[in-house]
Amino acid sequence: MLPANQAEQLILDLIPAAHSQPQEEIPLSAAVGRILSAPVAGKADFPYWDNSAMDGYAVRYADVQHCCADQPVTLTVVEEIPAGYSPQKTVQSGEAARILTGSMLPPGTDTIVIQEETQREGDRVTILAAPKYHAFVRHRAEFYQAGQTLLPAGIRLTAPEIAVLATAQCVSVPVYRRPKVAILSTGNELVSPEQPLQPGQIVDSNQYALAALVTLAGADPLPLGIIPDHPEQLKQAIFQAISTADVVLSSGGVSVGDYDYVDRILAELGAEIHIRAVAVKPGKPLTVASFARSSDLLPTLYFGLPGNPVSALVTFWRFVQPALRKLSGLAAGWQPTFRQGQTLQDLRSDGKRETYLWGRTHRSNGQLQFQLAVGSHSSGNLINLAQTNALAVIPIGQTFVAAGEMIQIMQVD
Ligand code: AMP
Ligand code: MG
Repeated sequence: MLPANQAEQLILDLIPAAHSQPQEEIPLSAAVGRILSAPVAGKADFPYWDNSAMDGYAVRYADVQHCCADQPVTLTVVEEIPAGYSPQKTVQSGEAARILTGSMLPPGTDTIVIQEETQREGDRVTILAAPKYHAFVRHRAEFYQAGQTLLPAGIRLTAPEIAVLATAQCVSVPVYRRPKVAILSTGNELVSPEQPLQPGQIVDSNQYALAALVTLAGADPLPLGIIPDHPEQLKQAIFQAISTADVVLSSGGVSVGDYDYVDRILAELGAEIHIRAVAVKPGKPLTVASFARSSDLLPTLYFGLPGNPVSALVTFWRFVQPALRKLSGLAAGWQPTFRQGQTLQDLRSDGKRETYLWGRTHRSNGQLQFQLAVGSHSSGNLINLAQTNALAVIPIGQTFVAAGEMIQIMQVD
């Protein structure tokens, strides 16, 4: 049984860092959440031209540098420059232009006097205090020079990056194709939520939960339904899955029960099996395998998750999500976020495996606190997993953590 951190490293090492996930060009309007696949450079400086950071008057510094309340300077206003207007006149000595925030500085000027330090009468403006040289001027290219790298490859595009790309008029962006993730549920006892439940049957919640997790991880779920515990049908389903997807997630059938065929079938289909069990609770039976593909494609990754819904979710968060992040082209930040926090309840474990207990975190007086979900923490209880945003981690060998003590917390939101 592999320790969790070794399993995580082994899984990440199956995906080369500079990898060949196919790329595509998509409209900026559809790019939120996607991973940039090439560095982007803008064609224009930013700011595009010298402009004013305030409402006021654009002046020549030399005209006003010595003025003060006792010795004000009066200038002739030769032009009004509202937003979006291109100045038509060159401001000469003794002149000024009325200017509004964001507007272009007219030729001849180098400094803005804010309107609070002026008095206007007709086409004359009196400057009551000397500004600093270049005051309130945003210079062309002050923040960005055309042609330099604006955004590097391997970052996720969220609102700030989208704003930057829009400003640089990058209306079409190169991104990695989302990994396709096939999902199959194995078990004779399973029915889909739309079907009536017969005695002894279990509703296939994993299909839905895993599809949701895959979507949230920025990948494309491909739900392939319920496959009975029948070796031939299972083999066919897995073959179809590995032929169409970048990653396959199956749940169920990976423990040592009589009906657990998955590992054997994987071997028959030519998989290299890397992991059969991980020392975590919930989640011990976890199969990780890979199937070689043509040389220009990464191997297909196969995760045989435990059938138990709680175990399936926890193993997804702990092991599948980092793999999906790396596979999706993110250059860094694949691992889950672990933080130190204080538990508000006593926590227990059998000490044999790294134990994950579900609950919620919040901040109180600057301290991260963990609130254990109320009710049973048996892996058979799916219900109290709702609203989970964090898992408390109890290391191997430790059986008890008292309320008030500090623990490792894995963030899952
Ligand atoms: P298994 O790993 O196949 O031995 O399944 C472990 C437990 O999880 C059994 O009680 C199964 O009925 C249940 N289970 C397996 N697959 C699913 C699923 N897709 N949705 C909900 N429960 C499942
Ligand atoms: Mg089963």
